[in-house]
Amino acid sequence: MITLVEVLQRTTTFFEQKGIPSARLDAQLILGKVLGLDRVKLYLNFDRPMADPELETLRPLVRRRGEREPMAWVLGTKEFYGRDFEVGPGVLVPRPDTETLIEKLIAAFGTAEGSDPAPLYVADIGSGSGCIGITLALEDARVRVYAIDASPEALEYTRKNIEKHALKDRVAALNGRDLAVPAARRIDWVVSNPPYIPSAAIAGLQPEVALREPKLALDGGADGLDMYRRLIPIAAQRAQVGIAFEVGEGQAEAVRDLLNAAGFPAQIHNDLSGIGRAVIGLRGSSASGTLYAAP
Ligand code: GLN
Repeated sequence: MITLVEVLQRTTTFFEQKGIPSARLDAQLILGKVLGLDRVKLYLNFDRPMADPELETLRPLVRRRGEREPMAWVLGTKEFYGRDFEVGPGVLVPRPDTETLIEKLIAAFGTAEGSDPAPLYVADIGSGSGCIGITLALEDARVRVYAIDASPEALEYTRKNIEKHALKDRVAALNGRDLAVPAARRIDWVVSNPPYIPSAAIAGLQPEVALREPKLALDGGADGLDMYRRLIPIAAQRAQVGIAFEVGEGQAEAVRDLLNAAGFPAQIHNDLSGIGRAVIGLRGSSASGTLYAAP
């Protein structure tokens, strides 16, 4: 008979051998998930014997974490903007950085006028877990979202989270590259957290990111700006109101300049560490895009 504290200790040692910096915490969280206990309750149950079915549930999770899968994949959920999102192999884990984009976008959307305000059509390119589009829809009842991802695996998580947050009537999941929304559909806002890490920098990131998270969601080409260069002309043709991006450290000015040149005069918004993290451009009077064709 093996007790909870013995399992905790063995798991911690195993994680340490795998070079995981937060070995004990991760062991507690995974064990807590399997047993349905928070960390305080784990401590109060140290001498509790572990049943075989519990150990069988635990083993594959411990093995996956030992292979440096992100904790969020192993636990199956990640909190973003105060809500839980389902995540797992094949999808980028939501980052707190991206909450800056959400806050600034909600401010940019402004407040609704009248009792039956017009819908705001948002295209979220590279939706991944769906955290951006879904959060915008939950924060602003006018928002209707096209959540687009080129990766079928990632889009499965978008779908799961649409379901989880009961948004099937306001958020549509579309598999495709770039702005894969039928041409006749109105789009007010194009938003995206595109891949922006310079290719050569990826290998230097922690193994969970460098080896596990999808390259499609991370790799932004030689200087990290490839996707902005590709998406801005496409978005400028369609976005009736604005274009908003998350950017990596040191990229905000370049992305602002690209948006300005495309006819979307843009502003840089800093995150809590003072890093330019979101860039939001509003369609200027001289923007070259055509007004949407009525369906
Ligand atoms: N913020 C992520 C990271 O630094 C990168 C996500 C992205 O490329 N959009 O790991």
